[in-house]
Amino acid sequence: MYIDQDLCERCMDCIPVCPVGAIGIEETKCARHFSFRVVIDYETCVECGVCRRLKKCPQKAIKQVEDIPYPRILRAAFSDPTFRHASTAVLGRGTEEMKTNDVKNEFTRDNVGFSVEVGRPGVGAYFRDLQKVTMKVVALGGDFASYNPVVALMDKSTGALQEEVLDEKVLSAIAEFVVPRDKALKVLADLVAFINAELESVATISVIARNEVDGGHAFLRKLKVHGKVHGYVPYPNGKVNLGIAALKGGKP
Ligand code: SF4
Ligand code: SF4
Repeated sequence: MYIDQDLCERCMDCIPVCPVGAIGIEETKCARHFSFRVVIDYETCVECGVCRRLKKCPQKAIKQVEDIPYPRILRAAFSDPTFRHASTAVLGRGTEEMKTNDVKNEFTRDNVGFSVEVGRPGVGAYFRDLQKVTMKVVALGGDFASYNPVVALMDKSTGALQEEVLDEKVLSAIAEFVVPRDKALKVLADLVAFINAELESVATISVIARNEVDGGHAFLRKLKVHGKVHGYVPYPNGKVNLGIAALKGGKP
């Protein structure tokens, strides 16, 4: 996204709408008085399109380049909720997450599913951050869910993402995977510790596990016991968002 300086009248109405603070003022050289222009920082912008969709600009000065090149187009793909992913045909971040499990049945009674969303509006994240998570998932024995566009960017045997995408920034991207049920609590504990120590952005972990035949739920019961310490609240009929978010070195 960019601002057409020939049209912009510097009203600054667009500055507050950007969810990552990419729009700001830039002082321009003028010996006699203070002079500035309103600009979009190319590196900070995640191409989410909010500034254009909100139609705040009276001059229609906010413009999109016609063909965003690869890999920058991934910024729009993962940040613009109107963008449909080629690999999954799903809008926005390209995954329906675990919410459609009753149709897809990727998360069975034999396993527990996790999703780790890296980044949020206001913070954003680089694919380099997500790669730390995906490589850790492989180290923990996780198996990636297939209905997720991140898989198309990844070597599933190592969790490494394509080198050329690592410096692309998005509002957020999600890794989804399953682990055997008996390993789930250990994986969760390791993942939380890893994210806390290593991630430069914020992350949110969600979990899904099917009810057992007897109507009980061993994993969620254990999670609840665990939750007395961490405050997790299991919802047996839906995705449980554990709400873990941390900056590097911070506390969950
Ligand atoms: S496209 Fe999104 S990130 Fe870029 S300037 Fe507009 S609102 Fe900000
Ligand atoms: S809203 Fe439009 S005219 Fe006003 S500063 Fe932003 S780009 Fe310029």
